[in-house]
Amino acid sequence: MSEQIGFIGLGNMGAPFASRLLAAGKALQVFDRRATAAMELTARGATLQPGASGVAQAAEIVFLSLPTPAIVEQVAVEAANAAESGPLRFLVDLSTTGPVMARSLAVRLAKMGVTYVDAPVSGGVPGALAGTVVIMLACSDEAAARLTPLLGILGRVFHVGGAAGQGQVTKVLNNLLSAGALLLSAEVAALGAKAGVDAETMIAVFNAGSGRNSATLDKYPKAILPGSFSLGFSNALMYKDLELCLQLAHDMEYPMPLGEHIRQEWQAAMSIAGAEADFTTIVRKSELSAGVEVRAAPRQSSR
Ligand code: NAD
Repeated sequence: MSEQIGFIGLGNMGAPFASRLLAAGKALQVFDRRATAAMELTARGATLQPGASGVAQAAEIVFLSLPTPAIVEQVAVEAANAAESGPLRFLVDLSTTGPVMARSLAVRLAKMGVTYVDAPVSGGVPGALAGTVVIMLACSDEAAARLTPLLGILGRVFHVGGAAGQGQVTKVLNNLLSAGALLLSAEVAALGAKAGVDAETMIAVFNAGSGRNSATLDKYPKAILPGSFSLGFSNALMYKDLELCLQLAHDMEYPMPLGEHIRQEWQAAMSIAGAEADFTTIVRKSELSAGVEVRAAPRQSSR
């Protein structure tokens, strides 16, 4: 039988990741608690399992792409429990789970004969579709040699360290930077629009100048200027990442005054935009307070 790969969590990120593995010719065993999530994949040959343990009993390497640390813990332990009677060797967690949970799961699962590897990602749904996400892999050199060819189908692998949790440390730091850039860009762009500067011109100038950042380069052109607000990442998931980063700082007795302010501001803006809304809607708080919308002018029809 050909090598079986498992995938649990077929949401905004998991579905395109699993799709890329299928397209690369991998035999896939999948599960998501939403019954409809696997339909497109099973139509293309993936095998739907009734639960995490079914996946663990059918595959040596199982990927997780799940929303919260608590869900990752529950699913990882369920899968590892099933490993005794199956081939499971590696659980590769692509979710943003935080370093504390990653370290704890690595220790717990090792006692059950399973290597837990943290491999969180950055690059969003467009990156997951295109195979251009950055993957922050933390594991031994031996595990990295085994997993990198597979992870290379999903994106660009950075082996950030051998100790469990180092991928998660890198990821939550990255997302604090990303959230901060978006909040500050929203505040600045709303003032520019209020002062009468054309929104598209303003963002183009920032991107040609020294103000450019991940929000002005990516989020504004793709989702905020066109008003589509559809990058496939929720405000609540970003807030979870900010809490994980601030928890890390707290545990290390390292004050992060700006980071803490970003967390609080994200929470306040999320109460206006909605926790389940796309994270690009976080700009609405600044726009409401300025009384403007930072959008591209409607295009004139050529006919
Ligand atoms: P999502 O909510 O779209 O997908 C999560 C999937 O997990 C859903 O399909 C859900 O049904 C499934 N699920 C939940 N509980 C389950 C369980 N007990 N068993 C099986 N399936 C279960 O989330 P997402 O946006 O795809 O994010 C997944 C992870 O990746 C999160 O940790 C997130 O922080 C991280 N992440 C997301 C993005 C992004 O742009 N969306 C980018 C980088 C990292």
